[in-house]
Amino acid sequence: MRGGVMDMCFPGTCRVCGRILILQEKMLCLQCLYDLPRTYHWLFPGHAMTGPFSCMAACTGATSFLFFREASPYRKLLHRFKYCGEKEIGLYMGFLYGKELSGLSRSEVNPCIIPVPMSSGKRRKRGYNQAEWLAAGIALATGWTIDVSALKRIREKTSQTVYDREGRRENMKNSFAAKKVPYPEILLVDDIITTGATMESCALAILENNPGIRIGFASLAYVE
Ligand SMILES: [Zn+2]
Repeated sequence: MRGGVMDMCFPGTCRVCGRILILQEKMLCLQCLYDLPRTYHWLFPGHAMTGPFSCMAACTGATSFLFFREASPYRKLLHRFKYCGEKEIGLYMGFLYGKELSGLSRSEVNPCIIPVPMSSGKRRKRGYNQAEWLAAGIALATGWTIDVSALKRIREKTSQTVYDREGRRENMKNSFAAKKVPYPEILLVDDIITTGATMESCALAILENNPGIRIGFASLAYVE
């Protein structure tokens, strides 16, 4: 098991297909970069992911960068990013994602990026919050600012896997607390969106102290 994880984390090879990278390639070989399962959510606002957030008046839109399909070799990217300590994958993916998002900014105001926080205990265990690395990549590509102190996780969730959407919402309720912030618009960023319950709980906490704020939602991966 340990050998397997170590092999998956071996640097210098394509993080998806394992081919040795040439000088111009970074993280992914050109073929895997070209074949990234991009959702193109940002070009089609009526897509399925908008659903969970569409009833929220403050919502400016919701997008994910990549599809997260069960048999996809691209699942390795997320695994490495979340469990192998390869934070730079999030930074790089965030950068590619940010390039897409910056091209379609419809409003005059640039949003402030707020990564979904994790509890201090979990952060200590993992050593980093992957949402922050993703947010940093988006910021690098867009020039938008990041605020990592606006939102706090005040309660760790219990395992979400046994719940349906309603159960997840209930489980996530009151998990976050937010400060009053000076931004008219924010972009909430997380690594993965399944039902949207975590993001929704963050948004409700932010709205409680910032009733007029507009909120966009962005994740690296979307589970279909
Ligand atoms: Zn490859």
